[in-house]
Amino acid sequence: MPIKFKKIRVRIAPSPTGPLHIGTARTALFNYLFAKKHKGSFILRIEDTDLERSNPKYEKNIKDGLQWLGIQWDEFYKQSERIDSYAKYLKKLLDSGQAFYCGHSKEELEKERKEKLKKKEPPIHICEHYNKKLKKGIIRFRPPKKKIVFNDLIRDRVEFNSELLGDISIAKNLKTPLYNFAVIIDDYEMKISHVIRGEDHLSNTPKQILIQEALNLPIPQYAHLPLILGPDKTKLSKRHGVVSVADYQKQGYLPKALINFMALLGWSPQDKISSQKSENSHDEEMLSIKELIKKFSLGKIQKGGAIFNVAKLDWFNGNYIRQKSLENLTLLCLPYLVERGLIEPIFINKQYPPAYGGYSLERKYIITKTKKEIPINKLKKIIGLEQKRMKKLSEVGELTEFFFKSPHYKSDMFKWPRTQRARLKEKEKKEIINILNKLEQILSKIKEKDFTIEKLKTILMLEAEKFNGDRGCLLWPLRVALTGREKSPGPFEIAEILGKERVLERIKEAKKTI
Ligand code: GLU
Repeated sequence: MPIKFKKIRVRIAPSPTGPLHIGTARTALFNYLFAKKHKGSFILRIEDTDLERSNPKYEKNIKDGLQWLGIQWDEFYKQSERIDSYAKYLKKLLDSGQAFYCGHSKEELEKERKEKLKKKEPPIHICEHYNKKLKKGIIRFRPPKKKIVFNDLIRDRVEFNSELLGDISIAKNLKTPLYNFAVIIDDYEMKISHVIRGEDHLSNTPKQILIQEALNLPIPQYAHLPLILGPDKTKLSKRHGVVSVADYQKQGYLPKALINFMALLGWSPQDKISSQKSENSHDEEMLSIKELIKKFSLGKIQKGGAIFNVAKLDWFNGNYIRQKSLENLTLLCLPYLVERGLIEPIFINKQYPPAYGGYSLERKYIITKTKKEIPINKLKKIIGLEQKRMKKLSEVGELTEFFFKSPHYKSDMFKWPRTQRARLKEKEKKEIINILNKLEQILSKIKEKDFTIEKLKTILMLEAEKFNGDRGCLLWPLRVALTGREKSPGPFEIAEILGKERVLERIKEAKKTI
């Protein structure tokens, strides 16, 4: 039965202590999808009360990352700009005696913690200064003794015993609230209806509920998302490789691919049982943000951890790369070709838009090695040839390098069939040189303007048929001479782009190395 909610207001509340993590981005996405589905509001709240660890550069990184992904917030807040609000509620708790100043020093608390851990006791602090009416020190909340029960929208019934929590630290002083306190004041004042966040916060929820009860605040609905795990089933971290959204962007993942992939980390458009079956398989649906919004529901989120499978992300990215128009893909690839030192942009007297880092299809480019201009149409053709195989934009340099630089040849690569790789015998060398001579002879007779895929195909296929139907005998050495590689697009497509002069040059060069 569909649940009826009051106005849906959700939030993502990152601390700017590091770059936007893929886990935070997924939490943001789930909040965003939920808000959009129910015509509610999605709020970005920067939790920067920890001044020592917070850094404005990470706030920028978080905002840039969310915007790049297309996860646009409707409202924005910063905790550091709201300090007065927290003080008001802190005073209320202090006045009612539910909160108190714990006069213990950091060192004393640390010593107590260590001793408790040694004795295998929970490292909580039950302060003997409660009731002493001290006027300084950390502010703590003394929870009433009770069982806290709440219904998590993903994990169902969750139960905690408040006696296991000890006295909860809620502020360093009136001007410096701590997470568990600031978060509930903000959630209340921002009228948050649903707190959708990572499972790592599950143990904070009873603390927050107790403080909400003490202040007589409404309690939002909670939904704790399953953790994202690496392939070894431990919590995803830097050990597993890249984890920040900016790094995925740099590697050439497309925002649509990341969104589609992240949406399926713990959620599935099917019900929970069938989604488990398809784990690790590549039959997930390609879903646009619109479709995700339509299909999203908290009820379809799984309880168990979600495995981050890079191969699956690559699969999505490859699909989204193939959906790009050639113009757009070329634009996206240009910076990677420049970064790899294959081409250079030339400045003409014109301002280029900052989108795409100032790269533009109207700009002129030269090949770095030869300093000759390469027309944008040729660049488009090169990119188009690799569009089928590219999984990330950053691969474009490596995949297309042979168009911009002469290849390095390994002589044994010329041998056909290619399954039998071994050092070439003298007789085999001669055979290959004969074939390359033959190719040179045929190709030099073709006019420059006839160096088109169709013409080359017609002429060379006819010749290739002469090898008892085994066309590879002719076409394989040609492909290797043009690229120096085992894997590449077909030789006719490459020859058309390289043009007559460079094709003949490469065949000559290849002969020398055999
Ligand atoms: N600042 C907290 C974090 O970054 C927010 C947790 C929450 O959503 O309550 O993990």
